[in-house]
Amino acid sequence: MTKSQGPGTSDGSKAVVLLSGGMDSTVCAAMARAGGFEVHALTARYGQRHTVEIEAARRVAGALGLASHTVVDLDLRAIGGSALTADIPVPKTAAAAPSRSSQRAAHDSRLMTPDSPPTAHGSQLTASSIPATYVPARNTILLGLALGHAEVLGARDVFIGVSSVDYSGYPDCRPAFIEAFERLARLATKAGVEGAPLRIHAPLQNLTKAETIRRGLELGVDFSLTHTCYDPAPDGAACGACDSCRLRREGFAAAGVPDPTRYAPSVPVRNEERKTKNEKRPLRVLEIYRTIQGETTFAGEPCVIVRLAGCPLRCSYCDTEYAREAEGLELSLDEVIRSVRDLGPGIVVLTGGEPLAQECGAELARALADDGRTVLLETSGAFDTAMVDPRVRRILDVKTPGSGMEARNLPGNLATLRRLDEVKFVLVDRADYEWARDLVRKARLAEKCTVLFSPVAGKLQPADLAKWIIDDELPVRLQVQLHRVIWPERDRGV
Ligand code: SF4
Repeated sequence: MTKSQGPGTSDGSKAVVLLSGGMDSTVCAAMARAGGFEVHALTARYGQRHTVEIEAARRVAGALGLASHTVVDLDLRAIGGSALTADIPVPKTAAAAPSRSSQRAAHDSRLMTPDSPPTAHGSQLTASSIPATYVPARNTILLGLALGHAEVLGARDVFIGVSSVDYSGYPDCRPAFIEAFERLARLATKAGVEGAPLRIHAPLQNLTKAETIRRGLELGVDFSLTHTCYDPAPDGAACGACDSCRLRREGFAAAGVPDPTRYAPSVPVRNEERKTKNEKRPLRVLEIYRTIQGETTFAGEPCVIVRLAGCPLRCSYCDTEYAREAEGLELSLDEVIRSVRDLGPGIVVLTGGEPLAQECGAELARALADDGRTVLLETSGAFDTAMVDPRVRRILDVKTPGSGMEARNLPGNLATLRRLDEVKFVLVDRADYEWARDLVRKARLAEKCTVLFSPVAGKLQPADLAKWIIDDELPVRLQVQLHRVIWPERDRGV
């Protein structure tokens, strides 16, 4: 690190900090403030795809109590040439579960040397290419603005939060660029030629993302105020799949602290977030996402869904064939729990596929209960549920004749029902209804736990089912799939 790249210290003299609203520039501002500078933030609204980060910059400037915050307008869309300023897609990590071969490719990327830039399946961060999110000459332009601002303020120090992770991809984040710009500043400014040259500080230059996060936490940075995503949802939620989101998520995982980022639903779990190549990963997971619970007595509540891959059954009405057939990603219990924590509070629903078809499905349910979560375990009834932790609410899907899987029901499961459990019958027609009704009465299921009757969409009208339940005075609860009502066009991530 050259002298000009260090954090610098001061006794209250002014400094200009380029503040984008992201993690790095926020930590950079916090470091400048901790170094004793009177910090004046400068943010550019340069025509980027969204203005979420401008709002984040305002929040950060307020939270850090900076001396001033100036937002400069300039429109780099007139130049374009970047996925951030032109009609060029933002590169994303594959949104669906990668194949085994791509898992291997991502796994192999973790074997690179510590100095290697991180790579990811579907992303563009490699040693030899500059990502499409590079904005031509952006840091040259922004540092030029900061120089001008500093001259007018009478500041001799400029801070920029370029990081060691980014510089491998972006040429204007590299140490050579920062040093060259400082030389330029000596020649190009009145202060410089009159013997008071400006200094360019890049204190994050040699820090990993995890080190940056830890440094920020030491300085009291609230990362929930920051915004990193290149391609956020309209409500500002991070996409979770662009390179910037990926680096952020990996950074929090590596730092061992919760990621406070609000991600859009159905953020895919990715192999590259694994901590070590030797970590045991006994679970095969298809997706983890935040949504509204669509079934059970918890319908309508915010929840985190963990969808495990694979199911040996073949129900006639299966609406999750993509999960039934999938191999999923191999993850450890800890990785799943971290992902659930990252997605926020609330109940956790383990579903599939068939969670209990996996050796560690019940263990995952117990571990999530240990973590203080209310856990719902949806299971087909074809696996022994007796070993499931008593704190876990079993949602037992008893297979009817119409499912074609009646023979797979394990009768012993009904004998172990607990008050917290719920029994579900998915009904295809009147014959299914009568079969389920007779079983409810014979086994006195409603005295043991909540019983749910659910019509198969497109095959049985909810109104018909409602009439039959009323006519028979059956002590069961009619349920329709609330998530299908809310998001009728979406098959996944709901
Ligand atoms: S048990 Fe569930 S996942 Fe498996 S085939 Fe039946 S409906 Fe599909």
